[in-house]
Amino acid sequence: MLNLVLFGPPGAGKGTQADFLIEKFRLIHLSTGDLLRNQIAAETELGLEAKCYMNKGFLVPDSIVIAMIKTKLQENKDTQGFIFDGFPRTVAQAKALDELLNENGTPVSGMCCLCVEKDELVNRLLTRGKTSGRPDDQDVSIIENRIQIYAEKTMPIKDYYMEQNKYHMIDGMGSVEEIAHRLIDTVAAL
Ligand code: ADP
Repeated sequence: MLNLVLFGPPGAGKGTQADFLIEKFRLIHLSTGDLLRNQIAAETELGLEAKCYMNKGFLVPDSIVIAMIKTKLQENKDTQGFIFDGFPRTVAQAKALDELLNENGTPVSGMCCLCVEKDELVNRLLTRGKTSGRPDDQDVSIIENRIQIYAEKTMPIKDYYMEQNKYHMIDGMGSVEEIAHRLIDTVAAL
């Protein structure tokens, strides 16, 4: 089983690259951002709560996203593996994921971090905001807030995976296809 953590700042291209990896390795894509946006669209209680955090660029509480991932793991016990996209985003989430996966005896195989320069991130997010309709992609101060929260709360996860020899840095600058090749080569060698 291949359990891949796709990591990187907002706008790094995790969702775009996940599509290539799913096709190549036949994995189930678990994006907490997509799962949360589905809850918002369905106007569930969880969605209403999450929306307040997301629209301002803050992280949704750990308990909410961990419970969502737990449900998805239970629903997909027969898969060849998962791509975790946008999760974990805090060290507490990384530890919770390890516990959940260890229950099935299938640990995280590796963590691939897409590294992209900050100016490029802001440009990509503003461009996406023109068509995505995402409120958090349309305002520079909200985008800056997300990038700062990534640096403060999410970057420490890098050390968590480094200590386990699971961290892989991928250059996230260049064409979508170039980056996909780099990622696929790294994942194939895991
Ligand atoms: P991006 O990578 O472009 O920020 P996502 O779709 O992954 O986009 O996330 C959008 C928003 O959803 C985040 O800013 C955050 O509010 C919320 N979110 C997604 N995943 C998590 C998570 N694992 N923990 C906390 N909040 C999350």
